[in-house]
Amino acid sequence: MKLILLGAPGAGKGTVAKLLTKMDGSVQISTGDILRAAVAAGTELGKQAEAAMKAGDLVSDELIMGIMRDRLKEDDCKNGYLLDGFPRTIPQAEALKELLADMGEELDAVVNIDVPRDVILDRLTTRRTCTKCGEIYNVKSNPPKVEGICDKCGGPVVQRDDETEEAISNRLDVYNEKTAPLAGFYEKEGLLLTVQATSSDAVIDAIKEKLGK
Ligand code: AMP
Repeated sequence: MKLILLGAPGAGKGTVAKLLTKMDGSVQISTGDILRAAVAAGTELGKQAEAAMKAGDLVSDELIMGIMRDRLKEDDCKNGYLLDGFPRTIPQAEALKELLADMGEELDAVVNIDVPRDVILDRLTTRRTCTKCGEIYNVKSNPPKVEGICDKCGGPVVQRDDETEEAISNRLDVYNEKTAPLAGFYEKEGLLLTVQATSSDAVIDAIKEKLGK
């Protein structure tokens, strides 16, 4: 399947994407993961993105579109893709529309995961992420078996740099201002599926129902 996962930081896009990849072999594409890997590796891309990311601001549309133009052409996209954290602005959505038209591809749906702000805040402050494979944990509800070490790959599990209270609050403001309008954009395109759910299983069920799977 070819989906966009829309939703505030902490809405569960990454968790839902990981579950969906197991269903039909589609690949999760997280621009946040790609950028974090670039920052960790100290590449030119990482240097350009680092300051904005740390503050919880968006990196430029040009930088993101440069990444996505290449990424969507890779072989592993043949079985479908789950776009997690992209697009995040109207110009990115418009550029993606053009790119997909050029590639002769169509999205199946845009899933808007709508989670109350208090749940989001609680999740983001307790979330921990593996810096090596991106696996997501939660200190309260889903801690790694050994503190600080990823169950899956043995990598370090830490709190992200942009998960301080200040950066979280900025990320949510940026989301409301720049990304929330994408729901209206995709509504007009006839692609929007809004799911009000705090459990990833409920989101998966709604997607299956919509796609008839
Ligand atoms: P995420 O892991 O999706 O929360 O992304 C982490 C950070 O990476 C964001 O706060 C932004 O600074 C940056 N980022 C990720 N995806 C995008 C995007 N599509 N457009 C602009 N900035 C992005």
